[in-house]
Amino acid sequence: MDIDINKIQPYTNDELWSPEKFPMPPRSRLHHLQPMGIGTPMVESLTSYVTRLAHSHGVHVGTLIYKEIIPCISKTYKTTNLLCLRNQTGAINGCGLLAEDSVQALSELTLYQNLSNLTMLNWKNIFPNRKLIRNHKAWCPFCYQEWRTNNQIIFDPLIWQIEVIRLCSIHQYSLQTLCPSCKKSVSVLSPKNQLGYCSNCSNWLGNIEDYLNTSLSIHTKFKDKSYFLWIADCLGNLLSFPSTIKSPSKKQISQIIQAIIHQSTKGNIAEFARWANMPKNTVWMWVKGKSLPQLSRLLALCYLCRVDLLDSIINEGNITNMILHQKSIPSSVNERPKIFKNTLNHAQIHAALSEAFQETHPRPMTQVAKRLGISNKVLRRHFPELCKKISQRYLIYKKQSRLERIQKVCIEVEKAVKQLQQQGIYPSEQRVALHIGQPGCFRDKEVREVLNRTRRNWRLLDT
Ligand SMILES: [Zn+2]
Ligand SMILES: [Zn+2]
Repeated sequence: MDIDINKIQPYTNDELWSPEKFPMPPRSRLHHLQPMGIGTPMVESLTSYVTRLAHSHGVHVGTLIYKEIIPCISKTYKTTNLLCLRNQTGAINGCGLLAEDSVQALSELTLYQNLSNLTMLNWKNIFPNRKLIRNHKAWCPFCYQEWRTNNQIIFDPLIWQIEVIRLCSIHQYSLQTLCPSCKKSVSVLSPKNQLGYCSNCSNWLGNIEDYLNTSLSIHTKFKDKSYFLWIADCLGNLLSFPSTIKSPSKKQISQIIQAIIHQSTKGNIAEFARWANMPKNTVWMWVKGKSLPQLSRLLALCYLCRVDLLDSIINEGNITNMILHQKSIPSSVNERPKIFKNTLNHAQIHAALSEAFQETHPRPMTQVAKRLGISNKVLRRHFPELCKKISQRYLIYKKQSRLERIQKVCIEVEKAVKQLQQQGIYPSEQRVALHIGQPGCFRDKEVREVLNRTRRNWRLLDT
């Protein structure tokens, strides 16, 4: 049969076929998750996001950090492992280099943008990094429990990690910073991190009974709740604001402070400094834009004139007008908010210290002072005997705990040596440590002595 070549339909008529290659969108190394609470005061923190990301890939947080995040981070951190920063992992949620590098690494790995909203990076020009972010976890047990009951995702909002925040504005309950079971601080990012659980003892942190039955948190006794609720609202507004606005500048903060001084003491810096109980030079530096106030101080100043921080930042040009329109402006020292005075009186502090002295698990004075929100130095000056007793009791407890721990390890080492020798394996330090699952156990000379003694005894038995 003759075929007329001109009558054959060319392939190009097939609508599914194209001579051009399909453009292949870039592939990400990891899949991304939608961050929780974006655009609300409860936006998720980056450490919480990392934890959820690890679990959704079916690996521990440590594995995600070691195998994926660290190789992506600039050389500065290659020698120091993120998890080795231990008490500083909270800085990942802050506005420094660690936060910047972590955001960049995670954006590269997931190809998901806008992760800086999960940190304080958007506000880095106006908030000094110092005392901005907590190094350990703070949480509202009511939020955790509510999410769990409603089968919602458990996460850690960024606002809980901001040092100045003391209350959950939803439940108006003080944020907790010590696990009710082991009485220790909880890490924000541990190798086997589980959101809502203690990093030390794996206790569920949302068990409300644990908190109501103990007087764990002195903050529940806050008298001036209104101040802490006000700052929680103020910062919540800030965190829910889209990151698309132009990053606020240092100059705006100095304008806000100038306006506050203008309003309260007609621009007299010295008088204002006396009134607000702050050093005159410090206030002068803020006014001139030479330094930035810590967030706690900036908020206390804003509270004086009920100035909303976000409003003042957005209405850059109208700050003065806005403050002038406020009605409830304190005009004398007596009207200063209680935050400028000590919120606990002498008797209350004495009672809290006595309680700390009798706790089942003694804690160092630094922790006791932190929980009370009063400097250790001040406490020691006013309650020297009580503070000394707390410290001494803690030292004895620490010594005893160490001895108990070593005793326990020694028994395990003895057992491991016997088991290995029975199997015909030489009980080297490394093998024994691996056998009992405690790699650093031979740092204690007592443990090493037990190992040597047991090995000698078994050799004698052999011969
Ligand atoms: Zn809550
Ligand atoms: Zn615990």
